[in-house]
Amino acid sequence: MREVAKTKVLSIVGPGRSGTTVLAGILGSVEGVVDVGELRWLWRRGLLERRTCGCGVPVDECPFWSAVVDKMMAGRDGTPAEFAAEVASAQGLLMSRRHRLRIIRTAAAGSPWPPLEPLRAVTAQLVSAVAEVSGGRVIVDSSKRAQDAAVLAGLDDVDHYVLHMVRDPRAVAFSWGKRDKTIRVAEGTRAMGSRGLLSSVTRWTENGLGAEALRPSVPRDRWLFLRYEDFAAHPRASIARILAFLGEEGALPFAEDDSAVLDVNHTVAGNPNRFHVGRVAIRLDDEWSRRMPRHRQLLIQGLTWPLRLRFRSRVTSGSASSQPA
Ligand SMILES: [Zn+2]
Repeated sequence: MREVAKTKVLSIVGPGRSGTTVLAGILGSVEGVVDVGELRWLWRRGLLERRTCGCGVPVDECPFWSAVVDKMMAGRDGTPAEFAAEVASAQGLLMSRRHRLRIIRTAAAGSPWPPLEPLRAVTAQLVSAVAEVSGGRVIVDSSKRAQDAAVLAGLDDVDHYVLHMVRDPRAVAFSWGKRDKTIRVAEGTRAMGSRGLLSSVTRWTENGLGAEALRPSVPRDRWLFLRYEDFAAHPRASIARILAFLGEEGALPFAEDDSAVLDVNHTVAGNPNRFHVGRVAIRLDDEWSRRMPRHRQLLIQGLTWPLRLRFRSRVTSGSASSQPA
């Protein structure tokens, strides 16, 4: 019997405000690669809250997601909204901080945790529906948390890869402190959440610890470490490196070394820059280094040094990670 190629799924793990959205958008502009945004939010933010898809219409009116949901509803009773509410509530119960490490350890190691099995089954169906509707070979999910990646890691029909992206925690905190972004919902726009310094540092640390807990369960050649700063300095080389990591050879969507050309991507959630289409210049955003008071920078450095040290060793060790050539 001929073996059918499994769908490749790239989970991007990394704290919010680390450049993951624009990176996923560039990958999604490569032939055969589909950027779905933060897939874990399809149910709550997409179908229930009716936030806007990357194509500009509410997720439940988007032709791409409507076709995916139709496939998922085949053989099920009830409406898509009822199903979405069921999945969102299961996610709320299971994927909380409380169960984070349990999910990371059991799901990624392929030793099932029975309460998680229904959610894994839905995720497997979702991947297969997205692959069928898009015709893509690679799905890029920037859900960001290690526990979401772990659910995908244990699925039989998924060829799973992880990109761990890390940005300087001072830059992340500075970005979270700004209140200049809005999100689009069916009824208009609303302000995007901001965070204080401690909340941002906690998120950065939690996300990094989650990634560290997941890493031993993922084969070495399926884990790529990338610093935001290296991506911003060498965007084209970074994307080429990620495609090589995925075993893909599509043409790079770049007009120049630092200027990508983005297609429309049906992203369900994520940073508002996912709506950018066409030419986008990739530049290192280091406004924080000029505008963040020194004492705040020192405080963040003090709170994050153990993990930063670990991540730095990852860059200098040159294992299946480090800087692009
Ligand atoms: Zn769409």
